[in-house]
Amino acid sequence: MKLRNDPDILIVGSGVSGLLAAVGIAKASAQRERALNVTIIEKRSRIGGVMASPVSDLKFTYSFKHSHREGLTGLVGSKVAEQLAFKLRNILHEILPHTATEDGLTIPTHYIPTKIKDKIQNLPRVSIIERPLGCIEYIGTEYGPEIVARIASSLSEKGVRFLTKTSLDRVELASGKILTRISHNSDELISLKPRFLILAMGIGGQMQFFNQLKNLKVTMSGNEVDIGIKVEMPWTSVSDIASNIGCNPKLVFRNSIGNIRTFCFNYRGFVTCYRFHRHLMTVDGYSILARQSSNTPFSLLAGFKPKSETPEASLGLVMRLMKRVIQIGHGQPLLQLFGDLERSTITSASTLRNNKVKPTLKHFAMSKLYNVLPGADSFVDTLHEMDQICPEVAQKSTLIYFPQTAWGPLKLQVSSCMETSVENIFAVGEFCGQTQGIVESAASGLICGTEVGTRLTAA
Ligand SMILES: Cc1cc2nc3c(=O)[nH]c(=O)nc-3n(C[C@H](O)[C@H](O)[C@H](O)COP(=O)(O)OP(=O)(O)OC[C@H]3O[C@@H](n4cnc5c(N)ncnc54)[C@H](O)[C@@H]3O)c2cc1C
Repeated sequence: MKLRNDPDILIVGSGVSGLLAAVGIAKASAQRERALNVTIIEKRSRIGGVMASPVSDLKFTYSFKHSHREGLTGLVGSKVAEQLAFKLRNILHEILPHTATEDGLTIPTHYIPTKIKDKIQNLPRVSIIERPLGCIEYIGTEYGPEIVARIASSLSEKGVRFLTKTSLDRVELASGKILTRISHNSDELISLKPRFLILAMGIGGQMQFFNQLKNLKVTMSGNEVDIGIKVEMPWTSVSDIASNIGCNPKLVFRNSIGNIRTFCFNYRGFVTCYRFHRHLMTVDGYSILARQSSNTPFSLLAGFKPKSETPEASLGLVMRLMKRVIQIGHGQPLLQLFGDLERSTITSASTLRNNKVKPTLKHFAMSKLYNVLPGADSFVDTLHEMDQICPEVAQKSTLIYFPQTAWGPLKLQVSSCMETSVENIFAVGEFCGQTQGIVESAASGLICGTEVGTRLTAA
């Protein structure tokens, strides 16, 4: 391992939040005589986290308004959040490969046609979340690795060190100082004492570090847990509301378990599965400009409140559910036809072979979703309600996958510059449990990096 000296700043995780933390540090310390000693470690063999994986849809949403959470706006206030979104847009546009901007699309908000809005007005339990004009940009899944490579190369030029296959295993306080234990290729171990530690380990990192965060006395609570399904049907069935690759309409359906919302439409795209941790996976989807499928998958998500707001309760809820899914599906996500879900029969291989809609996900296990999907009746009702907006959604042949998850179960208490309750330890991106999506996670990294860079420069 190339690490000999303790870095000033150790960033753990090279997803978009970790990378933008380094960008913030570099910008804030640009005037400094001696460059800051910044190291980013990444446990995988490639950098970039979810954003660089071939499954991220790469829709950039420059608005931090959520249907049911405060997110970053709750931490920094709506005015600062707005300015940040604008700043992020400029930063990301500077590094976009020009092919991405040429092919990529900027999506206007009012993509839900009037005839659909009229239909929704007649459905008292349905509403639409509108976004400011042009705040969503579809960049293209295929550009993720190139965008990450550009950010990394500009950071390397500024002296930031990257170490892949290098994992944070332990973090503790020794006489009030941060002490980390790091392994390389799962064996060579080294101790580092950075002055500042930025944790950017994504949702998977929450699962891995829960006990250590508790030992460190990092203040945290439980998040409402988002659980739902991915729905896949012919693209023509939802073409009225998802009419191009960038469309991501947010419809909210009120029912007995609270709100169920649409999430992540993948126009003529593909269903995929992403594994955050050995105990946590999600089905999700992506679209690519160069290749189209015959289907448009989308997600339906509901927020489930555990019995108490403790982190243990939220984590327990996710772990129990995931253990069952992983056991039933032998590690694969579950699939059932909508017709079989309603009749509570398992879909047979021959039924699926002859089904009108062909799954774009390659590996799955057939199962009865009623056994595992919380609030299954409400999801079924929602699909029937949606059928009144886009006829043909609640068809027998529609494919239903489980589990779709979002947001980590833990919500770390952080200041407006992302510092945890432990001095000089920061938490950014999905690891902190307060941001969702690429741009919001990037913004949290930028805020944190700017603060750390400024503090060190002043010192
Ligand atoms: C399939 C899919 C599609 C998505 N599509 C979109 C989209 O179109 N638009 C959008 O806005 N959002 C999308 N998202 C969400 C978005 O990708 C995330 O919000 C964002 O990438 C989170 O960034 P992050 O830096 O917080 O975490 P991550 O990207 O998860 O990065 C965390 C990094 O930390 C590393 N790590 C973890 N533990 C350790 C350790 N102990 N030591 C060292 N390294 C460690 C991980 O390997 C990983 O590289 C999608 C998510 C998924 C799963």
